[in-house]
Amino acid sequence: MTSIQAELGIIERDFTEQVSAASSSEELQQVKVAFLGKKGAVTLILKKLGSLPPETRPAAGQAVNSLRDRIEAVIEDKRARLDEIESEAAERSSMVYRRDSDPTHSPMFNQLEGLLVDRDISVADMKGCLETLMAAIFSRPLKARYRASYFPFTEPSIELDIECVECSGKNPACRICKGTGWLEVAGMGMVHPNVIRYGGIDPSIYNGFAWGIGLDRIAMLKYGLTDLRILFEGNVPYLLSGRSL
Ligand SMILES: [Zn+2]
Repeated sequence: MTSIQAELGIIERDFTEQVSAASSSEELQQVKVAFLGKKGAVTLILKKLGSLPPETRPAAGQAVNSLRDRIEAVIEDKRARLDEIESEAAERSSMVYRRDSDPTHSPMFNQLEGLLVDRDISVADMKGCLETLMAAIFSRPLKARYRASYFPFTEPSIELDIECVECSGKNPACRICKGTGWLEVAGMGMVHPNVIRYGGIDPSIYNGFAWGIGLDRIAMLKYGLTDLRILFEGNVPYLLSGRSL
């Protein structure tokens, strides 16, 4: 009995140390398994009870059970606190605020999005659509460059750069493209089959593409605006003058 009590003391001390070190629900779960799981310290000691002299079993059993109850209570309490912390963190990361507000960055922006779903849609269709759109916006054909990217709802995901509308890559000191000759204008990709499926249609028959374009940036490039903030400031004479652009 004395040796069981000593063991229980050691187990409780170890548990207290480990549970206070656990900083996520996964770590907490590991601690739970280590003490209350099939091969956990408390479970193993319960199994030992059978080998004790019968007269000491009830007291030892009670001591083990009471330790198990304390451990469960501490774990539940810690789990509730970790859940609260983790759900707060998840909410924060889904709210995206851009803090930069300078001539070319705004904390808010307008996005134009396109989606096509049909049979036998290819990446070539998507590229043709976007290049036609860009040529229409800028009133001339522009060279396009595609870069592999990642977006959650498309596979593959691609970013579109167009040739610099200011210098076509001929001015290393160009302030628009910063000398690279390219401007990032759109994100796009082939719609992920799961998205098609969640939309209620069969992805083995239908597919499609989707794209998004930052309208404010396009307006800046098209009209040669030097300060993006002018678009949100509600300066009526300026906005009316935009009619003739
Ligand atoms: Zn340029």
